[in-house]
Amino acid sequence: PAAFYSFSFAQNPKWTSFHPPGPEIVQYYHDVCQKYQITDKIQLNTDVEQCRWLEDEQVWEVTLRRLVAGMGDLGAKDRMKVVEEKGESAVYSDTEIVRAKVVISAVGGLVEPKGWPDDVPGYEDFKGPLFHSARWDQCVDFTNKNVVVVGTGCSSAQLVPRLPNAPYNAKSVTQLMRSPPWVVPSFPPPGGDEWWEKNSPTLMKFPGLPAALRFFIFAGAEWDFRLFGGSEWAAKHRKMYEDKMLGRVKKIVPEKYHEILTPNYGVGCKRRIFDKRWLESLNDPKIELTTQPLKRVKENSIIIGPGVTYPEYAHPEMPEREVPADVIVLANGFDTTKWLHPLKVVGKGGKDLVETMEERGGAQAYQGTAMDGFPNFFIIFGPNTATGHSSVVMASENMINYSLKFVKLILDGEATTVDVKHEAEVAYTADIQKSLKKTVWMSGGCSSWYYTKNGWNSTVYPYTQIDFYRRCLFPKWSDWNVAYTKKGLAKKRTRQAMRLLTFAILIIGVHRIRQSGLGIRDVKAHFQSLLQGVLAKAVQHWNLVKDQAASWYSS
Ligand SMILES: Cc1cc2nc3c(=O)[nH]c(=O)nc-3n(C[C@H](O)[C@H](O)[C@H](O)COP(=O)(O)OP(=O)(O)OC[C@H]3O[C@@H](n4cnc5c(N)ncnc54)[C@H](O)[C@@H]3O)c2cc1C
Repeated sequence: PAAFYSFSFAQNPKWTSFHPPGPEIVQYYHDVCQKYQITDKIQLNTDVEQCRWLEDEQVWEVTLRRLVAGMGDLGAKDRMKVVEEKGESAVYSDTEIVRAKVVISAVGGLVEPKGWPDDVPGYEDFKGPLFHSARWDQCVDFTNKNVVVVGTGCSSAQLVPRLPNAPYNAKSVTQLMRSPPWVVPSFPPPGGDEWWEKNSPTLMKFPGLPAALRFFIFAGAEWDFRLFGGSEWAAKHRKMYEDKMLGRVKKIVPEKYHEILTPNYGVGCKRRIFDKRWLESLNDPKIELTTQPLKRVKENSIIIGPGVTYPEYAHPEMPEREVPADVIVLANGFDTTKWLHPLKVVGKGGKDLVETMEERGGAQAYQGTAMDGFPNFFIIFGPNTATGHSSVVMASENMINYSLKFVKLILDGEATTVDVKHEAEVAYTADIQKSLKKTVWMSGGCSSWYYTKNGWNSTVYPYTQIDFYRRCLFPKWSDWNVAYTKKGLAKKRTRQAMRLLTFAILIIGVHRIRQSGLGIRDVKAHFQSLLQGVLAKAVQHWNLVKDQAASWYSS
């Protein structure tokens, strides 16, 4: 729902629906940039190649590479391909080195589309358009075309139902699936879609209602977290939920799909599909879902089979067949487990950030945000900050607010460097990995993009988002090395002194009250009479103002 997958500080009362389409979301981001006057601060077509910490000067040296127009829309792999084929100047126009006291990386986690599967030959022979869903080619005409969609994740569930219908009007859609996802209904709007689309523009103008709606969706999502735990209670609830969801799937899709749409792993282990149209669309004779494996690509067709990938070892008798293909859409996901890739970050002592993480077992960061030895460097949506049940946009806001508490010290001249302590980072990561072991992500019986082949899960946060919010709101300062300036030290000492003074006044106050022989009841009575006094004064003033207004009105 857009109300939850948008910024808390920039709620949009004008969404045309509960789950608005992409162009409307893009417009929203444009509007937010305009509102906060940051559009002119964004440098597009610029690739941050490297960040290097200069110890002597205590600043980051950042290498920016300006891209030739259009190259910013390509993934890093595709850009490399252009470099190999046409040379550097076809991709990069200029290099600039800037210095910064603070670097905040917000390079995302699902940015680099997965390429064409290495084990499937024929890619070069295919004559039609072939692209990844994340690089949608608006120029491709689907009318009367045979389309093949590779993958059955969240992206495909949104695009497949639309392809046979206007404005695409594809002739046929063949969707290739390796194993089934758990499909659950998308979060419904209050009153249903029709009612919501008609009434929400008026309703959402009422102050407080957008925030209330956001909170309501947040609470609903948090309730879902019960499904991910390792306890018996969680397993029991998971089973109940699975039965219900499977019953729903079987009610909607044709019987021929019941077997291949029954997952053999626990719900939540892989990312669930919150579906509005996909299951229903499988009743359309133009759409075919198959688990026959993709074997080869030819000029205008694909070869699938023999046999099936799911259920494993079932139907070996199913013969190989050729399916016509005019357009191939890859909805096969992203390169996910290489964090910060392809940005190179070199910290204290010439240490590479990704290598440092690998040496310690896998991608990791203290609160997903900081690594020791990389001072004044913050990661937004870093390792173990994605959620299986809630909004990454909200989690990112929390990480930003957390980072800003440290960045402020530097920008205000109160500190020169902030660097998380080594032992704090190691302890944090150990706790995260230990807690993850108990969750359905690691024990649900699936393989997913959440973790690497060696079982290191650097993707999800094992606790609730309430917990993450709390951690971000109240930093554990003792986990950080802060190099205060004189100004910062003076401020810190003043703050400490004020805290001590308040505490001392409180102790002395309590002591005095006790000495004077007053009890709790007396103190309560005193405050009551004080409150009554204040209220009486307020009423007196209100009457005075009212009388004055009446006399002005009558004259
Ligand atoms: C299909 C799909 C479905 C998703 N569904 C959900 C969902 O339902 N719920 C959810 O919470 N999350 C979802 N996500 C996750 C999603 O990635 C985040 O919600 C959100 O987009 C993360 O925002 P971000 O700003 O951190 O990263 P992004 O939106 O990915 O932005 C990162 C930006 O950094 C740029 N960049 C990367 N490297 C460099 C570099 N070296 N130099 C310069 N720029 C660079 C990229 O080009 C990109 O513009 C989904 C993602 C995808 C792709």
